Amino acid sequence: MTGHTLIDPATGETGRTVPFLDAAGLEAAIDLAHRASREWGRRTGVAERAALVARLGELHTEHREELAAAIVREMGKPMEQALGEVDFCADIYAYTAEIAEAQLADEEITLRGDASGRALVRSAPYGVLLGVMPWNFPAYQVARFAAPNLAAGNTILLKHAPACPESAAIIARLAREAGFPEGAYVDLVADNDQVATVIADPRVAGVSLTGSERAGRAVAEIAGRNLKKVVLELGGSDPFIVLSTDDLDATVEQAVAARLDNNGQSCNAAKRMLVVDELYDAFLEKLTAALLAVRPGSPTADGAQLGPLSSSAAAERLAEQVDRAVAHGATAHRAAERDGTFFAPVVLTGVTADNPVYAEELFGPVATVYRVADEAEAVRVANDTSYGLGSYVVTTDPDQALRVADALDTGMVFVNTVLADAAELPFGGVKSSGFGRELGRAGFVEFVNRKLIRIA
Ligand code: NAP
Repeated sequence: MTGHTLIDPATGETGRTVPFLDAAGLEAAIDLAHRASREWGRRTGVAERAALVARLGELHTEHREELAAAIVREMGKPMEQALGEVDFCADIYAYTAEIAEAQLADEEITLRGDASGRALVRSAPYGVLLGVMPWNFPAYQVARFAAPNLAAGNTILLKHAPACPESAAIIARLAREAGFPEGAYVDLVADNDQVATVIADPRVAGVSLTGSERAGRAVAEIAGRNLKKVVLELGGSDPFIVLSTDDLDATVEQAVAARLDNNGQSCNAAKRMLVVDELYDAFLEKLTAALLAVRPGSPTADGAQLGPLSSSAAAERLAEQVDRAVAHGATAHRAAERDGTFFAPVVLTGVTADNPVYAEELFGPVATVYRVADEAEAVRVANDTSYGLGSYVVTTDPDQALRVADALDTGMVFVNTVLADAAELPFGGVKSSGFGRELGRAGFVEFVNRKLIRIA
């Protein structure tokens, strides 16, 4: 690999390669971001920065078709979903701008006893941050990282996934158009060794990575060695727990939507369906019928629901996982064979705890369905994974909903709803799904130096 290259997974067409920076280019990028951090990030007021963030959001709306088209070419998601991703970004920038002043306002501390004087906590920027991005949400992942950090006065170095050079270039252009000064938002076309150099650089204060567990471990190790703050948004194998429902068809519809969204390549997709005994047979029958009725096709076709997987390598990896699952005793239900990157949905049943797939993330349109006796077993199986990103609970009993939510070892629990992410809702996981949060108020303060100022 000599740089970042778009390979359209639907057509196989290749875009131009954006070459990796050389050592001098890398140094110049860090220097630029560092100077902007001193001269802009620390010297401007929140309102001024928030206005730029708001403008960046408006520009996403103004250029939504262009950005969505690039996303479709890069990772093959249906156009409608790519447009939805861009609209979500616009909302994240708008929301961030809206709450920035309140979020970053001084916090007066009431002194106790006979202490005199004053104490306050002031929000100062961290400095230069590195963001390492995945390919599955080329714009949304950037928005989650860029919006709060730019508002807080941090400057950012963006290391996009190699598959996403077009959307990267568009977003960088929009950031310039919005009025951010040179160095506030800098794209880094870098390989992993260069990323390690950047993390170790004393001018870089922190790193946020969204991606696989493997990448998270590598980056966290380098960050730890260099004592840099790190936020990790990693993989997941979210359970979709069906305990009771008044409308099984609607529940199945939710399960399908939560499994297939983004061509099945979402960290927080519903990947494991855990269904209580009395609903299992009917749920499985309806889910299998609904999933197998969906055929992958061109992401730009009208009404496209499922596009190709993001690359041949991704499709091969998923096919191998399914084959291995079957070799270990699972049954695969499918209506069509894989055709290159086009992967028809698969339902896996009979997955036992010693099957390798039991512990793996399935990044594509493959659902595993488990029969569980009751709530207690559902919770046990749901938690029997190294991941802890999100979870879904379907129940008609509000007490049960909260009880199960309390018992789940995940960063997020969605009850009777799916695809409900929002700018104001903190997003993130526990266990091997990472640590730290993005979005919401919690995501705002990850890279803010809550500086105590005590005045006698
Ligand atoms: P990936 O292969 O881990 O890549 C993610 C990013 O990390 C890429 O920019 C990649 O660059 C970089 N990277 C990989 N190894 C690295 C290393 N050793 N040092 C430095 N950087 C490294 O993940 P992906 O395939 O793009 O994305 C899919 C994964 O992301 C899934 O597991 C999914 O669940 C997870 N994800 C999580 C969230 C969340 O919010 N929790 C959101 C979206 C996706 P190179 O490709 O150049 O190596």
